[in-house]
Amino acid sequence: MKMYFILFGPPGAGKGTQAGSMVERYHLCHLSTGELLRSEIAAGTELGLQAKALIEAGNLVPDAVVEGMIAAKFRNTTGVEGFLLDGFPRTIAQAQALDRMLEESGEKVTACISIMIPDTLIQQRIAHRATIEGRADDARPEVVENRIHTYHAKTEPLIEFYREAGKYQEIDGVGTIEQVRERIFTLMDLL
Ligand code: ADP
Repeated sequence: MKMYFILFGPPGAGKGTQAGSMVERYHLCHLSTGELLRSEIAAGTELGLQAKALIEAGNLVPDAVVEGMIAAKFRNTTGVEGFLLDGFPRTIAQAQALDRMLEESGEKVTACISIMIPDTLIQQRIAHRATIEGRADDARPEVVENRIHTYHAKTEPLIEFYREAGKYQEIDGVGTIEQVRERIFTLMDLL
C-alpha cells in the first residue's frame, strides 16, 4: 500500500514551503492543485482559462476539475512510496471523491497533517509572499479576504471530517520554517 498524506492548512500556513522537505524525506510525490492550476494557466489551456478568473477572485475551481487532475496524477505517477496532497481536498465533496478514488485501488488516506496559524498571520504571510512571488491572487487584499472566507466556509469543515476518521493531526504553524519542519518530521516519523 502507498501512503497518502494530506497537507492541510489555511492559505499562507506554509504548506508549499514545508512540502519539499517532506517529499524528500519520505519519498513522496508532491501534488499541489494550486501549482497544477497555475501551470495550466501559464500554458493557456482551456482548463487554465476557466480556472484563471475563479482563482484571481479568490474562489475555488469546480470540484470535478481538481478531482480529474488528481486522478490523472495518481494514474501516471510511478516509483514513489506515496503522495503528499497539498491544497486538495478543499471541500467535503473533494474528500469524499478522494476516498472513492483510493478505495477503487484498495488504498486509503494515511493522515491529514494540518498546519495551523491564526488569521492575522495568514494576512501577513500572504502580503509578504505577494512581494516575492507575484501571484495574482496574493496581491489584492479583498481577494485574500475572500480566500480566507472561502477557507473557513468550505475547507475548515474537513478538520471534523478527518478527525472523525481518526486521521487528523495538527501542527502549530507559528515559528520558523525549521521549527515547523521539525514538528512535522517528529509527527510523521510516528505515523
Ligand atoms: P493557497 O494555499 O495560498 O490558498 P493554492 O496555491 O493552494 O494557494 O491555491 C490557489 C488557488 O487555486 C485557490 O485559491 C483556488 O482558487 C484554487 N485551488 C487550488 N486547489 C483547489 C482545490 N482543491 N479545489 C478548488 N480550487 C482549488
